[in-house]
Amino acid sequence: MSTGTDILVIGGGIAGISAAARLAADAQVTVLEAEPVIGHHSSGRSAAIFIRNYGNATLRALNAASAPFLAQPEGVSDSSLLSPRGELLLATDEDMAQFDAYLDGSEGMERLSAQQALELVPILREDAIAAAAIEWDAQDIDVDRMLQGFARKLRHLGGSIVTGAAVQSVSRRNGLWTVVTPAGEFTAPLLINAAGGWADAVAKMAGVRPSGLAPLRRSAVLIPAPEGHDITRWPLFANAGDQWYAKPEAGKMMISPADEDPIEPHDVWADDMVIAEGLHRFEQAVTTPITRVEHSWAGMRTFAPDRTPVVGFASDAEGFFWLAGQGGYGMQTAPALSQLAADLCLGRLSPLGKSVIEALSPGRAALNF
Ligand SMILES: Cc1cc2nc3c(=O)[nH]c(=O)nc-3n(C[C@H](O)[C@H](O)[C@H](O)COP(=O)(O)OP(=O)(O)OC[C@H]3O[C@@H](n4cnc5c(N)ncnc54)[C@H](O)[C@@H]3O)c2cc1C
Repeated sequence: MSTGTDILVIGGGIAGISAAARLAADAQVTVLEAEPVIGHHSSGRSAAIFIRNYGNATLRALNAASAPFLAQPEGVSDSSLLSPRGELLLATDEDMAQFDAYLDGSEGMERLSAQQALELVPILREDAIAAAAIEWDAQDIDVDRMLQGFARKLRHLGGSIVTGAAVQSVSRRNGLWTVVTPAGEFTAPLLINAAGGWADAVAKMAGVRPSGLAPLRRSAVLIPAPEGHDITRWPLFANAGDQWYAKPEAGKMMISPADEDPIEPHDVWADDMVIAEGLHRFEQAVTTPITRVEHSWAGMRTFAPDRTPVVGFASDAEGFFWLAGQGGYGMQTAPALSQLAADLCLGRLSPLGKSVIEALSPGRAALNF
């Protein structure tokens, strides 16, 4: 016997859960998640930062559209999901082209002298700073509160989340998708593919043309705060050439080698050599050596060829909706993308501009490889 519903969502990360929650007032929604808990993959492993200037023009529009909800997450949490952090961008002589390109398309960034950068992060090596700029408005996101808040909202509106439900087959007959999982068989006229690093695999299972999504590994470590420093108020500080970034994290310091190694989708872990090389690059920029790594992890950042999310109905299959390719922006853009997904699925007008919606479209030229 199969369970019938209006909309099936494959994937219980932030993308699937937030979209399901936005739809649940108007439709019967069921989320199918392979793992025993939601948020086990990318959504539980992020750096939890909101950077308005991060990403291309489409992403920046989504960042701006997400900001009001993150500050006032009505129906999801009764207080802001954001708290002050700042993002300090640093360039060596070698990174000047990337630094200039980043600042070119950005808004509200303030250039700082090396001395001013040091006042914010005293462990920086002054002679390694050719240029610096800060986005004061970058903020930490309480990502767990956002994910759990959306899940609560979904359940409250009568939606359900089925865990331990790894989708094994997807087929369409008589206007209905049938999805088989170890937790049972489910049917619905509309299917949302929010399977993160596995989104292309899910499309293939359903006989839908894949979008050319590439899961890239991104690693991170936690180290003790540098001795003698209260790092609580330090901004996230990052190399403009994507060599590393670091930020305070619950009294410790998180450092990422900013790696982007293509991988097959899986429960990804940090590679020792990638971490060692990344920490070495970080150490060239600071005056304090790293003596101990307390914890390391990795996750997937899954990108389409044009590094823009893939959101909208598939052009080659009826009732198949893409919500994938969020790359390194999936937490901060979840409010806008989930709203867009709900608007498109329910046939409502979206407040996002036509050019943004077209840039996200699964039918766009960049995905027709
Ligand atoms: C180290 C790191 C730092 C990051 N920092 C930031 C940041 O600071 N800010 C930001 O905005 N973003 C950041 N990101 C990116 C962000 O985490 C992702 O964009 C976001 O989590 C993607 O969410 P998702 O729901 O698409 O994917 P996921 O959270 O991976 O969810 C997809 C889910 O689909 C499920 N699934 C897959 N296949 C099946 C199947 N066949 N059947 C059932 N379920 C299935 C998986 O089990 C998984 O739970 C970072 C990522 C990493 C790895």
